[in-house]
Amino acid sequence: MPAAGIPVPSVVLSTTDPLTPIWHPSPNFGPRRDGLKPSLIVLHYTAMNTAQDALDRLCDPAHEVSAHYLIGGDGTLWQMVREQDRAWHAGAGEWCGQTDINSRSIGIELDNTGAHPFSELQMGVLEQLLPQVMNRWGIGPNGVIGHSDMAPGRKFDPGPHFDWQRLERKKLAAPRSPNGEARPATLDEFRTLARAAGFSADVDDETLLSAVRLRYRPWGKGSLCAADLAPLANDA
Ligand SMILES: [Zn+2]
Repeated sequence: MPAAGIPVPSVVLSTTDPLTPIWHPSPNFGPRRDGLKPSLIVLHYTAMNTAQDALDRLCDPAHEVSAHYLIGGDGTLWQMVREQDRAWHAGAGEWCGQTDINSRSIGIELDNTGAHPFSELQMGVLEQLLPQVMNRWGIGPNGVIGHSDMAPGRKFDPGPHFDWQRLERKKLAAPRSPNGEARPATLDEFRTLARAAGFSADVDDETLLSAVRLRYRPWGKGSLCAADLAPLANDA
């Protein structure tokens, strides 16, 4: 409970208010290859203890990593690379059969160690930033993915604490199938459905299952079950 007389900060942010990120340029960027424009937005957690630590690393030429945006746990928004440029956040991976994700994406880092929930202030700013980036580049909800979606087994962010269903409800991420039928699950069918959903990286069954669970049901354990197929089912 806040003490009497101390105003409670509002966490209700308009999605139409223009954002004014703090410009904190990183030297770690280059031109997008082959004239590519952003068609994906890749979400990350920083896996560091503070936003300042992450900012320092993402702007250090020795580390050769960067992202377009960083959102602090307190909702502070920094921009490090211009959207038209290619930031170095995704690395090796594949989504929907496409590689060089850095040339095809905008990278957003969320200040989070990976071991705890994301703050309301931070989620509020993310939900304000996403539609603006999506509008600028014509990116639909299907284009908003996690780092672990495109680099299964190599990356695990934004991790099991990230609330994908919240973004899905706001049409800021692809909706999961609401009513995939319960039936015996085969690995072949699972792989086919996962690939159709975008998980095209060439990894073994166990790694693929882990990546799909991170996105849709991070509480899932054990061997493949019908519930793993349900969110991927294409009812159309
Ligand atoms: Zn990442």
